[in-house]
Amino acid sequence: IVKSATLHNFDEIARLGVMIGDSVSVIRSGDVIPKITKVFTQRRDGLESKIAKPTLCPECLSELLDEGAFLKCQNLDCKARLVNSIIHFVSKKCLNIDGLGENIVELLFKEGKITNIESIFFLKYGDFEGLEGFKEKKINNLLSAIENAKKCPLSRFITALGIEHIGEVAAKKLAQSFGFEWFMQSYEAYANLEGFGTQMAKSLEEFTHVNANRIQHFYEILHLEDEKKELIINDNISNKTFVITGTLSKSRDHFKELIESFGAKVSSSVSKKTDFVLYGSEAGSKLEKAQSLGVKCINEAEFNALLGGDDEV
Ligand SMILES: [Zn+2]
Repeated sequence: IVKSATLHNFDEIARLGVMIGDSVSVIRSGDVIPKITKVFTQRRDGLESKIAKPTLCPECLSELLDEGAFLKCQNLDCKARLVNSIIHFVSKKCLNIDGLGENIVELLFKEGKITNIESIFFLKYGDFEGLEGFKEKKINNLLSAIENAKKCPLSRFITALGIEHIGEVAAKKLAQSFGFEWFMQSYEAYANLEGFGTQMAKSLEEFTHVNANRIQHFYEILHLEDEKKELIINDNISNKTFVITGTLSKSRDHFKELIESFGAKVSSSVSKKTDFVLYGSEAGSKLEKAQSLGVKCINEAEFNALLGGDDEV
């Protein structure tokens, strides 16, 4: 008797067209998990009902992030994801708290010494006394590692929050673009960041909406370092679109970073919207295209002149 079978996700449910009360064909998938392969629609008697997609987390009732196949709870306090979010928060790429590995987090959680991420920063000597494997030196080392971890770059903290689709690179971009106000931005502001897609913007909007107060509270506990890059305004360059082609005296990334520091964009393809093509030696089709479109093409010396405020290019 098969009592339950996997339906994987909501895309699969839609693909099968399966409804509650249906007769179905089941196989042993991978020789283990019962899987529904077919719905016998001709056996329906009209009493079947649609499988509704939940909009709230069954554990904490927070609004879910809907990504088609996957539904994800974004609430950091949700018990269903709590322990894992603590483990992630203190891991190497995040707050990097030495000595606070997976097993210890699980132990502290089981013993009720930590109840959420913040509670890590309120641990006291007495919380460890009597725990297996904890002696004076180990306790003191761990407590000072926790204290030291409070001082950390903002981008690492953003990574540590474990926001869906927001990894180290995206976190850095957020910290550099918006500073401490990264979580108060609109969907459009997120979507306009270079390298950010609609999925990332949607995830950020959802997460920051649910966790705004929480982030403010973290700011009071931690001593985060600002990484915001102040844009330099240069009328020749700011808000313009550049394309870089050919071999220049330094790497393309060097010029890209330089151009972006003025609040200008670097695009990979030439169009009528391109303001400047910065070309080096052996520039090929992009330069030709720019010339045919009448886009202004400048070499490195002319670019440097622009930087210097010279508009006679
Ligand atoms: Zn939840």
